[in-house]
Amino acid sequence: MEVCEGIKYVFQTKKDVFVLSSSGSGAMETAVVNMFSPGDEVIAINGGKFGDRWGKICRAFGVKTHEIILEWGTDFSAEALAGELRRHPEAKAVLATLAETSTGTVYDIQGFGEAVSETGAVLVVDAISGIGAAPCPMDEWHVDVFLSASQKSLMTPPGLAYISLSPKAWRLAEKSTLPKFYFDVMAAKKSLGKGTTPWTPAITLIIQQREALRVIREIGLKSLLRHHEILGRAVRTGIQTIGLELLSKRPGNVLTAVKVPEGIDGNTLLQKIQDKYKVHIAGAQEPHRGEFIRIAHLGYMGGFDMITALSALEMALSELGYSFPLGGAVRAAEEIIKENWS
Ligand SMILES: *Cc1c(COP(=O)(O)O)cnc(C)c1O
Repeated sequence: MEVCEGIKYVFQTKKDVFVLSSSGSGAMETAVVNMFSPGDEVIAINGGKFGDRWGKICRAFGVKTHEIILEWGTDFSAEALAGELRRHPEAKAVLATLAETSTGTVYDIQGFGEAVSETGAVLVVDAISGIGAAPCPMDEWHVDVFLSASQKSLMTPPGLAYISLSPKAWRLAEKSTLPKFYFDVMAAKKSLGKGTTPWTPAITLIIQQREALRVIREIGLKSLLRHHEILGRAVRTGIQTIGLELLSKRPGNVLTAVKVPEGIDGNTLLQKIQDKYKVHIAGAQEPHRGEFIRIAHLGYMGGFDMITALSALEMALSELGYSFPLGGAVRAAEEIIKENWS
């Protein structure tokens, strides 16, 4: 119960939040099986590995999916979405992602919310990595189905997922005939009224999440978002200072994807960073392996984690023959972090 209240605080909603014992994809499946019926049409925005999952889940359940496939790292505007909604007036929903973790892109959910709220469709947003690091007030931005999970910005081990529905979404849920049992929101709603969950909850994780939410409340959502903004800005400025390019056209503060410069092998670069300097920077996922690297800002991350990441990146690049002023990225990041240290 305390976790439900804490998640309401980070979702910025007054609506009920349900706790599921599953990873984030379970909440995505919950959204699909509870909103739709066989043959329903939806619009799915696919800007990377996680946006791609929307289409995969919908197709697995026989939902007709109009998929907008974007080049990784590119933006998709609210105007373009309004056009898609006009093209597909039968669409029951738009399935979107707040922060596409495979590219670092944060989409214009506020604009999407405005476009979708003028139609009969619902806006479903995967905020699994985004929540807490990218602003997205569920109620104010007209998000109808909002979902997240414990293991990204919510600073808890994997295994819990969260979902909340607007009245417009509940109306769809009442009519939905797709098969469901474990992930039935009606059952969850009934149990929540009695202060419980329909199935055995992952209680050890709930206790850990309660503690992490207490820390988040202590920091305050506004300060937490600002903290991520400083980390993101420090890293973006640092990498641009040494002539590197961002992958995303609309980069957020959840993580920063950096293109591997020409002439450098991305896999060798990561190997040096990870094996030699023992710093964890993620690589690109398939089918773009080796093309860019991803520096995380989410979770328990501070200014010195960013300095460490940039420092390891610089040393590895320098060893591989990339020509730039060594220390340039670290210095630029330090300027930003020191001015904003709190
Ligand atoms: C991590 C992630 C997921 C997948 O969540 P699982 O917990 O692995 O099921 C989905 N969407 C986004 C945006 C993510 O970052």
